[in-house]
Amino acid sequence: MSDTPTSDPKPSFRSDVTVELVKHTASDSDVLWAARVSTAGEQSLEEMQKDPERSKGLINYLMRDRHGSPFEHNSMTFFISAPIFVFREFMRHRVGWSYNEESGRYRELDPVFYVPSESRKLVQQGRPGKYEFVEGTQAQQELVGRAMEDSYRQAYDAYQEMLAAGVAREVARAVLPVGLFSSMYATCNARSMMHFLGLRTTHELAKVPSFPQREIAMVGEQMEEHWAKLMPLTHAAFNTNGRVAP
Ligand SMILES: Cc1cc2nc3c(=O)[nH]c(=O)nc-3n(C[C@H](O)[C@H](O)[C@H](O)COP(=O)(O)OP(=O)(O)OC[C@H]3O[C@@H](n4cnc5c(N)ncnc54)[C@H](O)[C@@H]3O)c2cc1C
Repeated sequence: MSDTPTSDPKPSFRSDVTVELVKHTASDSDVLWAARVSTAGEQSLEEMQKDPERSKGLINYLMRDRHGSPFEHNSMTFFISAPIFVFREFMRHRVGWSYNEESGRYRELDPVFYVPSESRKLVQQGRPGKYEFVEGTQAQQELVGRAMEDSYRQAYDAYQEMLAAGVAREVARAVLPVGLFSSMYATCNARSMMHFLGLRTTHELAKVPSFPQREIAMVGEQMEEHWAKLMPLTHAAFNTNGRVAP
């Protein structure tokens, strides 16, 4: 593969993230089917349709008592585009997740960079483990926008310069910052999704509050919206039971 740059694109700046549900086989009935094989054996498929109220009760019982494995017999694949610093946090989730990310060795990376929106709180107050984020001043907001954009442009120019001089992509990419957008497919099941959401979202119903970085929470919130539509009973039981993964 040639290392000659294919274009001379201008940097662009984003404050949002992309989360698309690209593939799924996931429904509440997958949970019921898996759970009922314990007691109904090969009749479990017929049992499933019989009594919706009982189904809701069963899912809630499984969630409450943390019988987790029935929540694994389903699959959701997301296309996610977010800054590299979000992916570094995301990929710490090892269990029940599969990842494939775009390569900085095989393709020239596009100059799309993260700049926080005005609603992103900029200032951290308090001590580690007990802090909160508050709005920045106008001057801080302007500084963040200007400093980030300047340094992104400079880094991308250096990247382009090296590519133009024939340096391999895998070497030249070392100058690119973690605010660069990357993209990946991430596949999970409802159980691993719940574990992720418990840690990477902030929610008033959480029995064990977590304090995730805002940008990974933005990804989690969009994934949760998709998942809640596919598995409404499971999602409701997750909330009812304090958003602790079973
Ligand atoms: C708010 C927040 C702040 C964080 N800060 C930091 C930080 O400063 N530095 C840092 O390095 N990380 C940090 N992390 C990452 C964190 O330590 C976890 O790596 C990440 O949340 C993934 O969680 P997990 O290991 O439970 O998930 P998974 O890897 O998906 O594992 C799921 C579950 O499987 C079990 N499991 C998986 N692997 C093992 C194993 N090897 N041995 C035993 N049981 C296992 C555990 O029960 C685990 O909860 C932070 C996470 C959060 C949410």
